[in-house]
Amino acid sequence: MSQKTKRICKKGHHYFKSSDCPTCPVCEEERKSGAGIFSDLSAPARRAMENNHITTLEELSRYTEKEILQFHGIGKTSLPILRKLLSEQGLVFKI
Ligand SMILES: [Zn+2]
Repeated sequence: MSQKTKRICKKGHHYFKSSDCPTCPVCEEERKSGAGIFSDLSAPARRAMENNHITTLEELSRYTEKEILQFHGIGKTSLPILRKLLSEQGLVFKI
């Protein structure tokens, strides 16, 4: 039986792992759900992304700003953040 050791990842999550795999399950989950990309957003806005299955910026760029604003949880303050994220990848909202 392998012994589980307590670890702390770069982001400060506490977790137990028995293997030598350094992957933090919390970070892994965040990465999968896309919360990593949208970490600058407020929690309701992040949930709105999840609820609409937007996990990448490419997917986000398929929506117009008007459509994004209709998502429950997305406010006027979320748009500039999303616009900046898109522009960093050379993307823009659908026109
Ligand atoms: Zn972590």
